[in-house]
Amino acid sequence: MIEKILELIEQVYPKYLVLIVLIPVFLGYIIDFDVSDKYGIFSNLLWIPIATIPYYLTKKKIFYQLTVVFYFIIGFLEITHWLLLKGPLSVASLLAISNTNFNEASEFLGIQSISLMLFLIPYTILFYLSLIDIPKNYKPKYIFFLGGLTLFIIGMFSFSSSTSKFLVKGTPQFARVSYSFVYDFRKYNMAVENNKLKEVEVELVSNFKEQLFVLIIGESASRNHMSLYNYRKETNPKLKKRNDVIVFDNVVSPYSNTIETVMSMITESNLENKLPFHKSKDLIDVFHSAGFKTYWISNQPPLGWAENLISSIGAKADKSKFVNILNNSSYESDLKSSLDEKLFEPFSNALNDKASKKFIILHLMGSHLLYNKRYPEKFNVFKGEIEKHQMIAEYDNSILYNDFVIDSLFNMIKLNSIKYTKQITSAIYLSDHGENVYDELDLLGHHVIETFPKSNVEIPFLVWLSSSFKISASVKVNIIEANIHKPFVSDDLFHSILDLNNIESPLLEEQRSLFHDNFNDKRLRVLSDGINYDKK
Ligand SMILES: [Zn+2]
Repeated sequence: MIEKILELIEQVYPKYLVLIVLIPVFLGYIIDFDVSDKYGIFSNLLWIPIATIPYYLTKKKIFYQLTVVFYFIIGFLEITHWLLLKGPLSVASLLAISNTNFNEASEFLGIQSISLMLFLIPYTILFYLSLIDIPKNYKPKYIFFLGGLTLFIIGMFSFSSSTSKFLVKGTPQFARVSYSFVYDFRKYNMAVENNKLKEVEVELVSNFKEQLFVLIIGESASRNHMSLYNYRKETNPKLKKRNDVIVFDNVVSPYSNTIETVMSMITESNLENKLPFHKSKDLIDVFHSAGFKTYWISNQPPLGWAENLISSIGAKADKSKFVNILNNSSYESDLKSSLDEKLFEPFSNALNDKASKKFIILHLMGSHLLYNKRYPEKFNVFKGEIEKHQMIAEYDNSILYNDFVIDSLFNMIKLNSIKYTKQITSAIYLSDHGENVYDELDLLGHHVIETFPKSNVEIPFLVWLSSSFKISASVKVNIIEANIHKPFVSDDLFHSILDLNNIESPLLEEQRSLFHDNFNDKRLRVLSDGINYDKK
C-alpha cells in the first residue's frame, strides 16, 4: 500500500521537476518573505500534475521535456529577478526594467553577476538532470485521479473565498505575470500611444534662473481625519508643528475616484468644459514646453485598469519612476504593502539633479484600502475594540503615517531650498479625493451612491513656499494667504499651478486660479454627482 502511494507521488511529482519549480519560491522566501508569494508552494504543487498530463496521455517524452523547459525558463527569470531586484517577477517590475536606461542596467548586472552565477549554474545542471530523468510511463489512471482531485481542490477553494482571491492564491506568480503582460500591458501601451507629449504655447514671465515646483498627490486622505483640520485624534503631530505650511480648508475634489480626480487636477479638463482627458493638455506638456525638466515619481502601481491613463501622463515625463513594483494588477496592489517612504530616495535624486528648472510630481499610495497595508508597525498607534472601530483606527494610522511622509517630503524640499538659495521653490500637497470612514451614512470607502457623502470629496490642501519665493513674490504670497478659506474645486488646480509658477499661456484662466486676485470664489460647486456641494 505505502509502496503504491510512494509510486504515485513519484509519478505525479518527479523530484527534479519539483526542485526546478520550487527553488525560485524558496529563494523568494529567503530573500524577502514579506513580499514573496506565500501560497507559492501550494499553487505550484497544485499545477504540476496538470502540466504533466499531456505526457502521460500521449506517452511521448517530448511532452514531458517541454514541461521541464517551460518551468526552467520561468524559474531562471524568477531567480534572476529575485537576486537583482529583491522582489518577485511582476508586470510592474518588467515595466520598471524596460524604463531603466541601458547603462544603469549593465552596471547593475556587473555588480550582481557573481551571485547570479552561483545560483544559475547549479540550476542549469538541475535542468539537464530533469530533461534526462523522465518518469516511467505508468498507467495514466493515477493522473486522471489526481487531475480530478486538483480540480476538486480548486473548486473548493473558489467556493470558500472569492474568485479573485483564488486568482491571487491559487495561481503561480508566473501565470499572473503572463496574464497581465498579455492584457494590461497592451492596454497600457495603447494609453501611452494615445497620449503623446504636446507642445503648448507658454511663456515663463518670471526671470528666475532656478525654479522648482513639487506637486504631491495623495490618495484617499480625508481632511476630516486630520488633526491639522481639527480631527479629535492626534493624526498630524508633525504637520501641526510646522509654521511654514499654508493650510487651505475649503477644497473639494470634483469626483470621487482616482482616475477622474487626478486627471482633472493635472489637465485643463474640468467639470464645466468636460474636455476628454486624453485630448486635454496637461501639466507635463505645459512644464516641458516652458523649459522645465519633468519628473514623475509614483508609488501607485503603474499598470491596471485604474492606473493606465494616469501612468500614460507619467510616461511622458523626462524621468519617470514607479517604485511599487510587486504587483501584476490593481487588485493585487490593494492587498500588498508598498510604503510611501519608498519615494524618498528617488525624490532626493530628483532634487539633486543639476537641471535649473524642475517640475516633480509625486504620487502617493496614501490611505488606499486596505488601510492596514499603508503603514509600518511603528505607526500602529490607534486601536479599535469592534470591527468598525478597528477599521477607523487603521485608517487613522494611515493618516498618521501620511503625516510623517508629507512632513519628511517638506523637510527635503526645505533643505534643498536652503542648499540652493537662488532656487525659487514651491510645493503643493493635496489628496485625489476624500474617504468616508463611517463618517456618514454608515458607509466605508469613496464609492458613488446617488450623491457623494461630503467626506468623499473633502480633501486636505497644503502649500509650501521657500524664503526665496516669499522675498521675490511678496504680493503673490499675500494673495495666497488671503485665499485660504475660499471655496475651491481641485479640477482648477491646473490653472492655479500655472499661475503659481508664473507660466503665462492662453490656457491659463486667472479666475480659476486659487492663487490669483481675480479668483472667482462664486463658482457654483456642482460636483460630478450633479449636486451643489455647498447646499448639501
Ligand atoms: Zn484615489
